[in-house]
Amino acid sequence: MGNTKRSSANQVLTSGRQILRKIRSQPAAIEAFISTAQALSTTVSDAESAYCWLSCVLALRALSQGNFGVGALLVDASGSIVATGGNQMFVPRFRSEAHAEMVVMNEFERRRQAVAHLARYTLFTSLESCPMCLVRLVTAGVGTVVHVTADTLGGMVTQKETLPAAWKQLAANHAYREASCAQELKELATEIFALTRTKLNNKLRDRGA
Ligand SMILES: [Zn+2]
Repeated sequence: MGNTKRSSANQVLTSGRQILRKIRSQPAAIEAFISTAQALSTTVSDAESAYCWLSCVLALRALSQGNFGVGALLVDASGSIVATGGNQMFVPRFRSEAHAEMVVMNEFERRRQAVAHLARYTLFTSLESCPMCLVRLVTAGVGTVVHVTADTLGGMVTQKETLPAAWKQLAANHAYREASCAQELKELATEIFALTRTKLNNKLRDRGA
């Protein structure tokens, strides 16, 4: 069983390293994140850490493209990754809904229309979900949602008891938790998001948000 998990983690690491190699010519801060992600990949041995690491890689790609540094992926009951994505709010065009979790669920629902039950699926996100995404994931029926790092300013997971009654009732059927992974991965996820958070929030304010 351990071998199966290890092999799955290795497959995840291989796909993430391919994504990292395609990120080119970036400011020093992003280059430093790429080096950190590459170094951390050698420390990952279990499946959950591999998924968390990949969410950071996807966050890094989103950041390098001019979007918020958040990445996410959806994993089925057997541990296979069925959809991946990153924040796409600003590039290639403005999309107010295009948080990483929304991008992943849009992709999954477009491609896997035959799947009717997601109770045994897990969504990994590099950052704690916001109110919009938490409600979306509840509506989509995703059984478990795992975030690598908490978002004390915008996260809804820790605030879900304050949801309106109907949403709170639906959310109670699902599990939300912080990832069980290395502190270094949590710090990477935090720093990738923090790099352009203020700048991009200001961009939203310029649009009237
Ligand atoms: Zn969100």
